[in-house]
Amino acid sequence: MTGSVSKQQIPVNGQDRRWIKGKEAVWWSVSGNATLPRIGPLVLHLVLMSQPNVMGDLKERVAHGMCAMAYPPGFLVIPMRSAAVHPFSTTNLLVFDPPRENTAGKVHEMYLAKDAVGVPPVSAMDRSQSNNGVLTEVNGDCLVVDPGAMPGIAQQQLATIINALEGQLLVFLTHHHRDHVEGLSIIEQHKPEALVLGHKETLRRIGNVGRKLVKHCVGRGTSITIRNETLLVVPAAGHTIGHLALFHVPTRILVAGDHCTGEGTILLDDRSGGDMEDYGNTTIMFMDLQARVLIPMHGQPSFCPGVMLRMYRKHPIDRESRILSAIRRGANTVYTIVADAYADTPVPRWPSAGRNVLLHVKLLHKKERLPEASERAVKVCLYFDVCILVNFWLS
Ligand SMILES: [Zn+2]
Repeated sequence: MTGSVSKQQIPVNGQDRRWIKGKEAVWWSVSGNATLPRIGPLVLHLVLMSQPNVMGDLKERVAHGMCAMAYPPGFLVIPMRSAAVHPFSTTNLLVFDPPRENTAGKVHEMYLAKDAVGVPPVSAMDRSQSNNGVLTEVNGDCLVVDPGAMPGIAQQQLATIINALEGQLLVFLTHHHRDHVEGLSIIEQHKPEALVLGHKETLRRIGNVGRKLVKHCVGRGTSITIRNETLLVVPAAGHTIGHLALFHVPTRILVAGDHCTGEGTILLDDRSGGDMEDYGNTTIMFMDLQARVLIPMHGQPSFCPGVMLRMYRKHPIDRESRILSAIRRGANTVYTIVADAYADTPVPRWPSAGRNVLLHVKLLHKKERLPEASERAVKVCLYFDVCILVNFWLS
């Protein structure tokens, strides 16, 4: 369809609609300015298909023929087969390679310049608290987040992707789980000069993976600058100890690691410092960031992060009260608590639920909310029910 664009509002079904230019749609989508109208992802997809010059050639150059989402300019999300746990089988590899001049530069410059002012202060990130041994600034030419590709085709694809990236490569790890770091060996092989960035707990826990790569600790307030664009490191404990997220201020894109997933509910790792209280605090801090897009490492990005995060805030609170009710009714082992408080959850997911129960009970105990009569029994359950969990997995 062709024609000239009018500023005139057209009332349709009682609501004002009007035609807009493709570039304007892209600008509304990439801007972190909350006062601009939102553009739905499907509409944006259609707009972008007709405007390849706006988006640059990142997808074609880096992930040719692969399933990937390029949004907004410079960001590429590529689901890669990994050792992720059910219901997922892939981990999203995020590539950040901002458009260079003469490609998609125009729109990109536009949002960088406009958003240099007018972005609300990010109170949740206090740069003054950076500790010794933690880098405060890192520079590179391109960035990948969570290379969790498993051996086989996925790692061949990872090799193709990183070989297509030019200049100093930075590799950011949100946490140490195998499905987020298994591809480091490929990076070690193909880009031995890459710098690996992660929380000190993450770097300690990955052990010998990517042994020859240079690794640096990052944390609260570290800024990672890729050419002239900066992402801020945000502490996001809860899923594991030392779990980190990234925030791109101009577009208000939040790379949330495993704090949220595109499907299902939360899963914390009780064996790696997962903590229900930290999880709740991180969720509140994420809400304060007022992200416009949230990219989880499993499943689809969310274009309504506020709605998603409210669900992630409400769900553990509801579950905690159900667990407390189950305990009041006499449940005093992980199994009996799960059978009661997770009766609505499919049985194959009960082992994971059991791990969350351990963390909920730990928090209830800390808050002194456990009924006195049940406290001893529940404490016993905290120490001994790990064996029951093993039985769950074997059955
Ligand atoms: Zn994880």
